[in-house]
Amino acid sequence: MVGDTQAGDTHGNGAGADTHFGFRTVPLGEKQRMVDEVFHSVARRYDLMNDLMSLGLHRVWKDLLVSRLRPPKSERAFRLLDVAGGTGDVSFRTVEAGGPGTSAVVADINGGMLGVGRERAAALGLAERVEFVEANAEELPFADKSFDAATVAFGIRNVPRMDKALAEMRRVLKPGGRCFVLEFSRVDVPGLDAIYDTYSFKLIPGMGKLVTGDADSYQYLVESIRKFPPPEAFAELMREAGFKRVAWQPLTGGIVALHSGVRI
Ligand code: SAM
Repeated sequence: MVGDTQAGDTHGNGAGADTHFGFRTVPLGEKQRMVDEVFHSVARRYDLMNDLMSLGLHRVWKDLLVSRLRPPKSERAFRLLDVAGGTGDVSFRTVEAGGPGTSAVVADINGGMLGVGRERAAALGLAERVEFVEANAEELPFADKSFDAATVAFGIRNVPRMDKALAEMRRVLKPGGRCFVLEFSRVDVPGLDAIYDTYSFKLIPGMGKLVTGDADSYQYLVESIRKFPPPEAFAELMREAGFKRVAWQPLTGGIVALHSGVRI
C-alpha cells in the first residue's frame, strides 16, 4: 500500500504543530485553508466525479449508512446532524427514508459545497426538511444534546483536528444518540490492493483533470485516503472522544469502513 501511516500523525501541540495534507507535511494551522481550496475548486463537479470515480459505489455505501441509521418511518421527531455534509447526499437519503418527523442539518465549512447542496434540495423538494449551515466541524454552532444522530461521510479525514470534531459530534448528540463515520479505509483483499493503488494513483488524478479541470485536488484525495488511520486506530480515536460501543464494519473489501459509536 502506498504511503501507509498510523493514527495520531499530527505532531506536537498548539500553533507550532504539523499535520499532513495528502503526502505533504504542513503546519496544522494551514491545512484547513488548503482543504477549502480543494472543495471550492471541485464543488460544481463534485457529485459527478463521485459517481465516476467510485463507479457509483458511493451511493451503495451511503444507502448502507442510512439503513444503519434507521430514521423512524412515523411522525416521531428525528433530527440528524450531517457533519462535513457537502452537497447533502446523506441528509437527502435520510429524510427520504424517514417519516415526516425526520429532518437533517448539513454542516459544512465550505460555502461552495453548501450552495450546490441548497440547489439540489430545492430541486428534490426537500428544502423544508434539510437545512444547510456553514460551520467548522471542530466548533459546531449547535446546543449540547440537540441531535438524535450524527453522521460524517468521507469528511472526517479532511478535518485538521479529528479529535475535536469527534468530541463536538458527541457533545451535540442526545444520550443514546448514535454517530456514524463512513470513510475510506484499508483494502484487505489480496490482489485488490494492487488494483486499487493503480486505479487511485494512475487514473483518478487524470479523471479529475478531465472532469473538473483540477488534477491536484484529486491527487490530494487519493493521498489523503492513504494517510487516514487504519480502522482499529480510528476506533480508538472515537473511544477517546467518549463514544461507547464503538465498532466498525469493512465494506467492499475494506475500500471503505463504516464506524459507529453511541453517546451514553
Ligand atoms: N459528506 C459529503 C459526501 O459524502 O458527499 C461530502 C464529503 S467531501 C469529500 C468532504 C467535505 O468536508 C467537503 O464538503 C468539505 O468542505 C468538508 N470539510 C472539510 N473540512 C471541514 C471542517 N473543518 N468542517 C466542516 N466541513 C469540512
